[in-house]
This record gives sequence, C-alpha cells and structure tokens, in this order.
Amino acid sequence: MLVPLFTSEIIAERVAVLGKEITETYQSESVPLTVVSILTGSIFFSVDLVRQIRLHVKMDAILAQSYVHHASSGEVLIKNKLKESPAGANILLLDDILDTGLTLKTIQSSLLEQGAASVKTCVLLDKELPPEKKMTHADWFAFRIPPKYVVGYGLDSDELYRNLPGIYELQDDDSGKPEDFVF
Ligand code: 5GP
Ligand code: MG
Repeated sequence: MLVPLFTSEIIAERVAVLGKEITETYQSESVPLTVVSILTGSIFFSVDLVRQIRLHVKMDAILAQSYVHHASSGEVLIKNKLKESPAGANILLLDDILDTGLTLKTIQSSLLEQGAASVKTCVLLDKELPPEKKMTHADWFAFRIPPKYVVGYGLDSDELYRNLPGIYELQDDDSGKPEDFVF
C-alpha cells in the first residue's frame, strides 16, 4: 500500500528554497559548479534542482547501486566514470536518500581522491537513524523522514514507482497498484 508523504507541490517549494541556498553558497566562485547526480534515484530531484540554481552549472552523473531488495548490500558499486575529470572542480553531489551514508561517503571520498577542489552534498531525503549508524551527513536535505521504505519522484521498488509525482511510503502489503492512487 502507498501512503502519501510529500506532494509534488510541497517538493517543488522545498527544491526552490534549496536552489536559492545553493546559489548563494556558490555565487562568488569563478568556476562553474559541477552537479553530479547519483542515478537513477536522484534523476527527478536533479533536473528540478538545477533549474532553481541561478549559476552556470555543468551536469554529470554516477551510476551507483547499494540497495538490493529494500536492504543495503553493504557495498557501493560505481558503474561509470565522469565525463570530465573531477580534478579542480567544485562538485555538488546529489542523491535521493541518505540512509547509512555509505553511498554518499564512498562517492564523495572517491571524488576528493581524484582531486576535486570541493565536494558538497545535497539529498532529497535524510532518513532518521541512530547517530552511530550514520556514516556521514549531507550539507543540504529537502526532508527528513522516519526509517521507512519510500518510493516515487525517482525512488523505486524493484524499478517500479519512479514516475509517481509525489513521495509515498511503501507499506508491507504491496497489493496496491499505483493506478489506485495517481493514474
Ligand atoms: P545508504 O548508502 O545511505 O545506506 O543508502 C542510500 C541509498 O539506498 C540511496 O541512494 C537509495 O538508492 C537507497 N535507498 C535507501 N532507502 C531507500 C528507500 O526508502 N527507498 C528507495 N527507493 N531507495 C532507498
Ligand atoms: Mg541511490
């Protein structure tokens, strides 16, 4: 069953605020900001957020996977290289969800090792976890949520539900089809 958490309107309002804050943070920088999206989950968040950043922005993406069937696999598979070397770049790393932080921390460290001048992080959702289970924190997040499994606005359950405009909690009983809610 899908339980609504955030509507597309609420998401858009929050994304606009983040875009403004990010613009202010980087506006005195002389090099364009490189936005690196961790795919596939952050795809909608990324395209909405970059259009709220009033600066020159380059876009790149990393294909990574750590979750297998609703649970963290404990390792992060990075499946591609960036188009341009991260050396010297100011990077804003975007992800859908910060859970344990393994994904964000692994990719952030890798970009810094490759010589990025700075790597700040921004996530759509920050999941509440006991502090000892969080490996890192994001510089920005849109919403903080309880540790439930969520879908929509780019987030999937076995590749489904990504195209729901809002964000929903997916409850145990998976019998509900998205058609019942939004289509
Ligand atoms: P972490 O590495 O921080 O433990 O996990 C983050 C990654 O796990 C995210 O990039 C996301 O792909 C996936 N993930 C964590 N929680 C959820 C969730 O509730 N729903 C979905 N669809 N993916 C999640
Ligand atoms: Mg992800």
